[in-house]
Amino acid sequence: MQTAYISHKLCLKHDMGAHHPECPARIHAIEDQLIASGLFVYLQHHDAPEATREQLLRVHDADYVDSIAAVAPQHGMVQLDGDTAMNPYTYHAALRAAGAVVMGVDLVMAGRVENAFCNIRPPGHHAERGRAMGFCIFNNVAVGAAHALAQHGLQRVAIADFDVHHGNGTENIFHGEPRVMLCSTFQHPFYPYAGADSGNDHIINVPLPAGTSGAEFRAAVTQHWLPALEDFQPQMILFSAGFDAHRDDDMAMLRLTEPDYAWVTEQVKRIADKYARGRIVSALEGGYELHALARSAQAHIKVLSGL
Ligand SMILES: [Zn+2]
Repeated sequence: MQTAYISHKLCLKHDMGAHHPECPARIHAIEDQLIASGLFVYLQHHDAPEATREQLLRVHDADYVDSIAAVAPQHGMVQLDGDTAMNPYTYHAALRAAGAVVMGVDLVMAGRVENAFCNIRPPGHHAERGRAMGFCIFNNVAVGAAHALAQHGLQRVAIADFDVHHGNGTENIFHGEPRVMLCSTFQHPFYPYAGADSGNDHIINVPLPAGTSGAEFRAAVTQHWLPALEDFQPQMILFSAGFDAHRDDDMAMLRLTEPDYAWVTEQVKRIADKYARGRIVSALEGGYELHALARSAQAHIKVLSGL
């Protein structure tokens, strides 16, 4: 079975200013790399729909969803926090980004593809129930996980978050929801300064010090993520796929390389094959050094596709 590739042209129109690292070129970098490598033609291509209000309200407060719609500018830029802004395209790009993950869940559940990669922005894992932060507006992966529970009746959904930043928004949303396991590796202490002491038996936080190597990352995943996932026996796994822990990415100070992203994808895929009929939906989070981002995403998608 194929891997779906879900994106939308509006994800290129959301723009937070000329020097902002979370830039439209990130989408192109991944797509160009997939084309150059020959992988692109083997993927099943889909345009992301907009997430519905009902889908958003499973993980976000109604007041918050309304406030985002209300502040969306017709012209110019509106600042949501110190590093998160909306231009006139952002609101609909954010709806498409969340809708992409919902579509991935639907495609995988329908057996139309084995797994899916969503090349989307704005990213999502810092967005809390009632708060935009860290370049994120709606929590795309959380919207997808909640859809798998509510629409498809799954009882156990896991989220594997290897972005260099803690997935504080995802933890905020699912801290009291034992049907969702969050496994997060992240540099600590570091933005968003959360996660080091807040986990529980279904929130598996693995803080890593600056300078952590690929080998140390693999050891941490092997020690903390994999046994928890084996116990949990997820029926679907979502990736918060941020590639900013790469050695060449100066957003942070971890030292992962492409083979580490391939490796963690293989480990999680093995668990998905064992318990979840291979069902994986992956969504782009961070990753700001465009060459490293492109090569790392390619390594990740190559493993997903089995090509
Ligand atoms: Zn990040």
